[in-house]
Amino acid sequence: MSSVRRPVYLDYHSTTPCDPRVVKAMLPCFTENFGNSSSRGHVFGRAAEELVEDSRRRIAELLGAKASEIVFTGGSTESNNLAVTGAACARREAGDGNHVVSCVTEHKSVICPMERLDEEGFDVTMLSVDERGRIDIDALSAALTENTVLVSLMLASNEIGNIHPIGEIARRAHEIGAWVHTDATQAIGKVPVDVNELDVDMLSLSAHKFYGPKGIGALYQRESPRRIKLKPCIIGGGHERGVRSGTHNVPGIVGMAAALELAVQEREEESQRVSALRDRLESRLMEEIEGLVVNGDREHRLPNNLSVTIPHIDGEALLLSLDDVAVSSGSACKSDTASTSHVIKALGWGDEDGRGTLRFGLGRWTTEEEIEFAVGRLAETVNHLRALSTL
Ligand code: PMP
Repeated sequence: MSSVRRPVYLDYHSTTPCDPRVVKAMLPCFTENFGNSSSRGHVFGRAAEELVEDSRRRIAELLGAKASEIVFTGGSTESNNLAVTGAACARREAGDGNHVVSCVTEHKSVICPMERLDEEGFDVTMLSVDERGRIDIDALSAALTENTVLVSLMLASNEIGNIHPIGEIARRAHEIGAWVHTDATQAIGKVPVDVNELDVDMLSLSAHKFYGPKGIGALYQRESPRRIKLKPCIIGGGHERGVRSGTHNVPGIVGMAAALELAVQEREEESQRVSALRDRLESRLMEEIEGLVVNGDREHRLPNNLSVTIPHIDGEALLLSLDDVAVSSGSACKSDTASTSHVIKALGWGDEDGRGTLRFGLGRWTTEEEIEFAVGRLAETVNHLRALSTL
């Protein structure tokens, strides 16, 4: 009998537990430091404001940005909506153009705003990918026109882990004056994220993906040399210089700053440890499960990601039989639907075979014993399901 604590959590792309060091930093904000940071007329408000501004400075510094370039949001869904819609609408209103470019493998929080822009008369190009999920940079260049105002491409995929060459993409997009947004939600704490090295104009992050709390995120928006001025999506009291109204989530903001600090400090060591575990998971699964295919770009991939497809197996049925290992079939954000995810389909998998896709996300507390346990349970379950289907 294995001594591994169950259920084993291997779904760190979906969300992560809060690091106890982050919780410790947040706790005083629920009780003694509970003020509203906009209530500057008294000491409670000013204390909260100080916490918010100190967190903003620390987050900015860790991303290579200035404090005034950070906008607090409710997470990456909101940051992506604000970046895509806010940039496209502001630029169309300024008469700069109405063409926007993204990719079919983006997260739905980019794809849906792109679809809405299309309905509202924008000219939208959604780039396709090859069978490993790679973007063709020359196809991107060919798509750019004088009318292109925005290019939005993720830094790392939440499903197949691909890391896109955002620096090169930004260089080409800037040549024709487009603004560049990247969704860095899955990249923080796994690969270096510096807004100047990436040369992006906007960047989204969400704290719960890097051991911080849920419901808090940020959008970086560049001030120079391109002054990014977004049309706000959430309007009201004029918080965040009018870009995003609403009372600050002070515990969340303080937690995000603490989590980002740890993610940056521990990134290199943690990524090395986790990628060795991922490689082990990959090779053990290939040994144990006949016909298993690894998805994505194995050369440019997140250290903690493994996406596999097991043909002729239903991923949902597999997960239901696997209650002591928590993994995802495709994207957790779409887990209410049993169909093959749009990302897996974009690689060329059909609806039937693509359903046997599993996404593993390893993290800060994943151990070798857990990997061995998961491999054993998976192989056993797949073989059981295969035996049933031949019956
Ligand atoms: N982008 C990516 C790449 C993601 O993985 C996620 C979360 N699944 C989001 C955006 C949305 O983040 P949130 O749910 O925290 O708003």
